[in-house]
Amino acid sequence: MGKEGKSFRIGVIEGDGIGPEIVREAVRVLNQAAARFDVSLEYVPMVMGGCSIDRYGIPLTEETIAQAKTCDAVLMGSIGGDPAVSPWYQLEPSKRPEAGLLGIRKALGLFANLRFSVLYEDLKDACPLREDIAQEGIDFVILRELTGGLYFGEKKTETVNGEARATDVLAYSESEIRRIAVKAFDSAMLRRKKLTLVDKANVLESSRLWRKVVGEMAKEYPEVSVDYMYVDNAAMQLIRRPSQFDVILTENMFGDILSDEASMVTGSIGMQPSASLAEGRFGLYEPSHGSAPDIAGQDKANPLATILSAACMLRYSLGLEEAADAIEKAVIEAIGKVRTADLKTDGDGTKLVGCTEMGQYVARLIGGEK
Ligand code: NAD
Repeated sequence: MGKEGKSFRIGVIEGDGIGPEIVREAVRVLNQAAARFDVSLEYVPMVMGGCSIDRYGIPLTEETIAQAKTCDAVLMGSIGGDPAVSPWYQLEPSKRPEAGLLGIRKALGLFANLRFSVLYEDLKDACPLREDIAQEGIDFVILRELTGGLYFGEKKTETVNGEARATDVLAYSESEIRRIAVKAFDSAMLRRKKLTLVDKANVLESSRLWRKVVGEMAKEYPEVSVDYMYVDNAAMQLIRRPSQFDVILTENMFGDILSDEASMVTGSIGMQPSASLAEGRFGLYEPSHGSAPDIAGQDKANPLATILSAACMLRYSLGLEEAADAIEKAVIEAIGKVRTADLKTDGDGTKLVGCTEMGQYVARLIGGEK
């Protein structure tokens, strides 16, 4: 236990492909941060995805779920293989690696997905947007509702007047909206205190309920400025002037689409952390990218999205704001000096490094070494 008596249990799912390599570096960095800020982290190794199929025949076991429930948070690499060659994809869909991910989200009640989009000064060249737009800066997070809405509503296909007619129901209850809105307001309070609710309230009844609930809650958070934007406009504004956003809150399907758009505006897949949060402080933290089977085991993977996910874990689940800041600062400093192949461009003045060296570099910076 650390001097301040802070001690946490972290579940660790390395996963498949580059998962073990990137998680190893995130743990290295976490250990350095824990030493500097006098906290004690206990790691609980857990198996999920393809490696769970290899060992137990299924992508997610009851044991993994039970272990995760004993932890303060879970850090995950990535799961899955190359569908064209991996035997995991010969199995029926419910037994494939990705089913483990859906299963753990459900079992742990992870209803809010956060995807962070930050354009780092040193990586502005990677941004596909016009230079004057990139210069304004990009730093926002999308909170997507993960367990309700159109994807989970009643579905049916019937024959009406001699032709097939398909229906998907988009329904939200007040409590479902409120619990993710709390996360969004709390996130805004940790950031620049601006919240944008993205909806389609001009045509959708469910969107009007989102507006009502968020409008009522805004009174409880007087420091947070709230605005409302239709989803079609938001899709455009993310490209036109992304600097206007701080926290974007939206329902499941709009979030699905907008978060992929957002992952493009910063340009580098190896840099985007994500979090999936449950009631209370528990969360599962993982990079937004996949298991990159094409480069697995070659020490080429960029571990920074996983390292930044670990920083989010410290901030959102463990309440260790200072340690999270230290990791983020070290990452920013590191990319000015060293880069993995996915970030490297000719003449950028940085040294090409592998996954391990990148992790070591960030860890050294946190430890105070230059
Ligand atoms: P991917 O994100 O794994 O890879 C896309 C491209 O980006 C590849 O060329 C890869 O080499 C590169 N890349 C990804 N992460 C990188 C990193 N950290 N450093 C350097 N380069 C990186 O997407 P994909 O190829 O479509 O999917 C591969 C597998 O990952 C599939 O089985 C897919 O289902 C799974 N997947 C898992 C998750 C998850 O675990 N949450 C998310 C997306 C995809």
